[in-house]
Amino acid sequence: LVSRKKKAEDTIVSVNGENIGEGAPSFIFGPCAVESQEQVDQVAQAISEKGLKLIRGGAYKPRTSPYDFQGLGLEGLKMLKKAADQYKLGVVSEIVTPHHLEEALDYVDVVQVGARNMQNFELLKAVGQINKPVLLKRGMSATVDEFIKAAEYIIANGNDQIILCERGIRTYEKATRNTLDISAVPILKQETHLPVFVDVTHSTGRRDLLLPAAKAAIAIGADGVMAEVHPDPAVALSDAQQQMSLPQFDEYYDSLMKFMKQYELKV
Ligand code: PEP
Ligand code: MN
Repeated sequence: LVSRKKKAEDTIVSVNGENIGEGAPSFIFGPCAVESQEQVDQVAQAISEKGLKLIRGGAYKPRTSPYDFQGLGLEGLKMLKKAADQYKLGVVSEIVTPHHLEEALDYVDVVQVGARNMQNFELLKAVGQINKPVLLKRGMSATVDEFIKAAEYIIANGNDQIILCERGIRTYEKATRNTLDISAVPILKQETHLPVFVDVTHSTGRRDLLLPAAKAAIAIGADGVMAEVHPDPAVALSDAQQQMSLPQFDEYYDSLMKFMKQYELKV
């Protein structure tokens, strides 16, 4: 059902007035994790000042170590939703288990399924039964074919509002946190009718690569870019290495807009 052979036209996912996959790239910015009301308010303000429509922030954080910050859970989602409402933004946030889905749906506009859960088939079935968009991230060791089949689980359960997100895969290369598989973008666009995002933060894990990776993503035909923004990255409770500060975010967004105009890409 996700195949281009089944449906030739691009699927457009509409959230909070943003039409993802319609032509011009969409953007999802926000902190790795929701940490406080003030933190998400500051980021939401910066996003809305750019005329953007979406904010991200993790409340249920899938952390490698059980001793690391695990996220604020439902309280975090409430904070994010409050900030989003104040600045008229739509909320993108990860849900890690079907048990959290019902309570979370009051606060989330796009349900993110993270890389670690790309093949959590019960979660895929559950998000297939909601009527909100799903942002499905590629598993860190998943092939393109496995990624597409994971999306198929969602659509087979009735939900065709799916955004695919390339977020880097594991390779031997240690210069970046993961290896951004940029060629997956046109392959996914050819093979499926779904919009395709690139998460430049988790793929590169390097602040200095966030801009060139986003340019590459847009140039190769991605429908959008996700990146992490934090008011004070140095003290962030997760991903402190790679989030942009608010001034860095301003410069980043300006540079991307200039790049798109320079090459006459749709803004
Ligand atoms: C995230 O986007 O917050 C995240 C944890 O990313 P990933 O699932 O791609 O590692
Ligand atoms: Mn992160």
